[in-house]
Amino acid sequence: AVRVSGARKSFGGREVLGGVDFSIGRGEVVSLIGPSGAGKSTMLRCLTLLDTLDQGSISYGDLVVCSGDDGARYDRAAMRAARMRFGLVFQDYNLFPHRTVLQNVMDAPVVVQGRDRMEVESQARELIATLDLAEHADKVPCQLSGGQQQRVAIARALCMNPDVMYFDEATSALDPRLTKDMHDLIRQLADKGMAVGIVTHEMGFAQTVSDRVCLLFDGQIVEDGSPEQLLEHPRDERSRIFLSLSA
Ligand code: ATP
Ligand code: MG
Repeated sequence: AVRVSGARKSFGGREVLGGVDFSIGRGEVVSLIGPSGAGKSTMLRCLTLLDTLDQGSISYGDLVVCSGDDGARYDRAAMRAARMRFGLVFQDYNLFPHRTVLQNVMDAPVVVQGRDRMEVESQARELIATLDLAEHADKVPCQLSGGQQQRVAIARALCMNPDVMYFDEATSALDPRLTKDMHDLIRQLADKGMAVGIVTHEMGFAQTVSDRVCLLFDGQIVEDGSPEQLLEHPRDERSRIFLSLSA
């Protein structure tokens, strides 16, 4: 569903992504993990077109957003179309503070996708109910707990009917019960054919929820395999150390 190859990105002469190949297929859950400063958030920002690569290619399905070995050339029309194909749940949720839960969920489908308001409202109410927020539909974000706000952010992203969902540190603020709910929700999305990308520090969560785990060190993917493969046969010495520290 999404494929990146040869991704390079530098900030002020310092290379943060050093030629990364990464992909998530339909129905697959892939975690990107690695130590602080490894380039995970940079990678996620480039995948979600909030930042641009210096070099490499990104495609969503048949949409080629950028390509090129000597500098990434971005296609504006493809970028616009690609933005309809993924949803992103940030760590700090980025909800509109003065709009209700229902309005937060309905906004992008109506304004950005130009869909019919009635049709969007019925989907939004359904998602809100599924995510256990029915009684909160008319509240504003500050009246909700952190876990509830996160579910609003998830409902908002899902209401765009994305092919790919990205979660940035999805569980770091959650208690064990909500972490379990998050795990179940992610597996359900994948079972429905969605591609799910997770950026996290937490090997424990990555290990239980993912089909594949990619380990990023200094802007390079040094491991890419099933959680079992990674834990039992890490190929890189740094992975061994990282995994032993996060066990
Ligand atoms: P963490 O786990 O701490 O969130 P990360 O793997 O997400 O780390 P990034 O945020 O991608 O790491 O940062 C990778 C490197 O790029 C860091 O050294 C960071 O200082 C640098 N960096 C990130 N964004 C910028 C920027 N806008 N300008 C300059 N340097 C940046
Ligand atoms: Mg980060």
